[in-house]
Amino acid sequence: MQQGNIGVTSENIFPVIKKFLYSDHEIFLRELVSNAVDATQKLKTLSSVGEFKGELKDPKVSVKIDKNAGTLTISDSGIGMTADEIDKYINQIAFSGAGEFLDKYKDNANAIIGHFGLGFYSAFMVSKKVEIFTKSYKDDAKAVHWSCEGNPSFELEECEKSEIGTDIVLHIDDDNKEFLEKSRIQELLNKYCKFLPVPVVFGKQTEWKDGKEQDTDKDNVINNVAPAWIKKPADLKEEDYSAFYRELYPYADEPLFHIHLNVDYPFNLTGILYFPKVKNTIELQKNKIQLYCNQVFVTDSVEGIVPDFLTLLHGVIDSPDIPLNVSRSYLQSDGNVKKISAHITKKVADSLQDIFKNDRKQFEEKWDSLKIFITYGMLTDDKFYDRAGAFNLFKTTDGSYYTYDEYKKLVEANQTDKDGNVVYLYAADTDAQYSYIEAAKAKGYSVLLFNDQLDVHLASKLEQKNEKTRYVRVDADTIDRLIVKEDAAKVELTEAQQAAMTKIFSAQAPKTDKMDFIVSLNAMGADAQPVMITQNEWMRRMKEMSALQGGMMGFYGSMPDSFNLVLNTDHPLIKDIVEKQAAELDAKVAPLNDEIAACKKQVDELRAKHKDLKEDEKPEVEKDIIRTQEAKESDLEKQKTEIYSQFAASEPKVRQLIDLALLANNMLKGEALSEFVKRSTSLL
Ligand code: ADP
Repeated sequence: MQQGNIGVTSENIFPVIKKFLYSDHEIFLRELVSNAVDATQKLKTLSSVGEFKGELKDPKVSVKIDKNAGTLTISDSGIGMTADEIDKYINQIAFSGAGEFLDKYKDNANAIIGHFGLGFYSAFMVSKKVEIFTKSYKDDAKAVHWSCEGNPSFELEECEKSEIGTDIVLHIDDDNKEFLEKSRIQELLNKYCKFLPVPVVFGKQTEWKDGKEQDTDKDNVINNVAPAWIKKPADLKEEDYSAFYRELYPYADEPLFHIHLNVDYPFNLTGILYFPKVKNTIELQKNKIQLYCNQVFVTDSVEGIVPDFLTLLHGVIDSPDIPLNVSRSYLQSDGNVKKISAHITKKVADSLQDIFKNDRKQFEEKWDSLKIFITYGMLTDDKFYDRAGAFNLFKTTDGSYYTYDEYKKLVEANQTDKDGNVVYLYAADTDAQYSYIEAAKAKGYSVLLFNDQLDVHLASKLEQKNEKTRYVRVDADTIDRLIVKEDAAKVELTEAQQAAMTKIFSAQAPKTDKMDFIVSLNAMGADAQPVMITQNEWMRRMKEMSALQGGMMGFYGSMPDSFNLVLNTDHPLIKDIVEKQAAELDAKVAPLNDEIAACKKQVDELRAKHKDLKEDEKPEVEKDIIRTQEAKESDLEKQKTEIYSQFAASEPKVRQLIDLALLANNMLKGEALSEFVKRSTSLL
């Protein structure tokens, strides 16, 4: 019997292995099963080149639990190891600078295990003792038994073993009893080993018999040794891709499209990506892209490897060239990974373009679900933005789809303003903005449907990227100011009348912390509504973007929503109010106006006189006069406002017109709504 110490330069690697995060412990199974698979495949290769002349048994790896003995055994019929090989591959874990490295990556079991070929040693994360029984394929090789109890000393001796191959026996320690549970091991094999290229057997298939679950004599093979992604696209039918999708995500809806990735230069990468049907975001996040390395599952967090906007796709990526065992930050700076990421983007864009070109109808049918990926991609990835121009679609409120170029051609003639900007109109909600959409259509304008949170961002991006382009929501202004073609019709009211109407309607506009109403007047034609509510495009967009981005633009987020209350001075009802208030109030207001004018005049004269004087050269008496006159003026203004407010309150039509405009915008709620209903009845 040979005894010795495992060749680790730092005194003891076991404490470090044991220390790994609890959640990482489970990867020992992946490591041991993939070693067993490797050994099995190696023997097959040796046999095919004639180096192994013995009989090749049906290759398989088996995993067994013995709860009574407290052991988990992984057996293979692979190449096995001689005593020398055990010494070389298992005992001499030669690495330098171990302490430093282990310290740096102590939170990342994957990193340590992969970096130093410590796969086998991960067994010690869960075992108090590990044994190897192995017999090499080599002629006359003697079977050997190695054992180690989680400290640097080991034992190595000859043993009895008739078959070529290796059994790894883990004596599970008390803290890790879960790994003796059938369900837990089944779960892990499912997670990590589902697509390994050699059958992995875990016990027997079961059946229900005599009211209980019983073993049959058929092996329970847990994996599919030939998953779709390793096959040639030419050998696969549509059904095969669907079937594979269900294998990955049994409960998900049928995907929209798939993209088969198959690269062998300058890096190796295979995989199938699926565009899922987006039902809700929760589901999107639950089913993720799975990353494999030679059919061994590694992770389902693909950030850094796949461009951000594609992390929401589903499917599988398999590449031995992704350095999986390094930290994420390192990964993102890795040249190969950058190439892989760029390649995936290009491939996805190409596929979308192909589908669009070859089957536009299908593409349009699926657009509503596809859109989120494409918009997100265009916003976050400039290369993708450039490619997406060819297939990114604009959907109108009528449900027609156009590419950007097609749409521009469609609207250019009728929707270019007097400064040469093409104005793209959009609606976010066809119900809420119904009357505005109708008004726009009546003018022969087309209205796009931008009903997704990201659309406003895309509108801003499109404005940046395309000169002389503006996106404006249909309710951002009154119809003839949405796209200003020539100077708008003049409001035919005197300044005093305009001021009076502004005061009257301001007095009755809703007053809340969350909304501000600014009254303005516009000649919109006798057929248009008497009062309209619009919301400035720029302000609204800032608020929407700040809501989406959170903190960054908090300033806009905390401002009230600002609306315009636009009075249509061409409308008979507005004209009535203009006349009525003039008849009732002009006489009352005239003396106030005279006094205000007098105050103003005096103040103006004194200010003109003081213009070139320094502060201490201005006579105190005159400064006092300015102050009192200004105070008087503001007091007179208040009296005027009060007169108009009283009129506004006594004239139910004012509030009624405002409420009608609110109602048209779905903004009339609660008490205000029931007041409106009552008032309507009494007015009738
Ligand atoms: P890695 O697999 O990354 O090389 P491991 O620590 O997992 O690192 O294994 C070290 C070596 O031990 C392997 O490269 C292989 O030569 C040998 N080995 C491990 N498991 C087996 C096995 N089941 N059959 C044959 N050889 C094995």
